[in-house]
Amino acid sequence: MTTSAHLPGHSSSPAAGGDSVTERLVDANRHYAESFTDPGMDARPVLRVAVVACMDARLDLHAALGLELGDCHTIRNAGGVVTDDVIRSLTISQRALGTRSVILIHHTGCGLESLTEDFRHELEDEVGQRPAWAVEAFRDVDQDVRQSMQRVRTNPFLLHKDDVRGFVFDVHTGLLREIDPAS
Ligand SMILES: [Zn+2]
Repeated sequence: MTTSAHLPGHSSSPAAGGDSVTERLVDANRHYAESFTDPGMDARPVLRVAVVACMDARLDLHAALGLELGDCHTIRNAGGVVTDDVIRSLTISQRALGTRSVILIHHTGCGLESLTEDFRHELEDEVGQRPAWAVEAFRDVDQDVRQSMQRVRTNPFLLHKDDVRGFVFDVHTGLLREIDPAS
């Protein structure tokens, strides 16, 4: 990621209906459905856990955490930041769908470490409107995990705040490192 507000261009992307990436994914889904059998689960996660993580493509949450289909809620965004919308999802997860634990996962080499709030001003310069949302860029990933844990633990809408733990995933080793909320 760069500090430019411009999205990376894919000018060579073919139109829908060709050999676009979406077509490839839809084809893969047909194969998936051919061997899919309905596990007959309801919507409540088996392990009663919600995982909040960065959207980073190198982080395969299910593989990295030994999770199976139906085990958990996964809530992902740029940075794994605890935004209002993440709180919305966690509130529904806990109050309507029975989860009890929250795991927060940031990672090494996050794109948000190379951004600043200038990103918003660049957007404003380009399109004439400043986004209402914060970029939530950070310099210190450990501190950002602590901040995320704090936002969950102090939120009035959440029922279950005793088991909230935060980690940094190392994209080179695949290992999680736990962050002490107090240090
Ligand atoms: Zn990231």
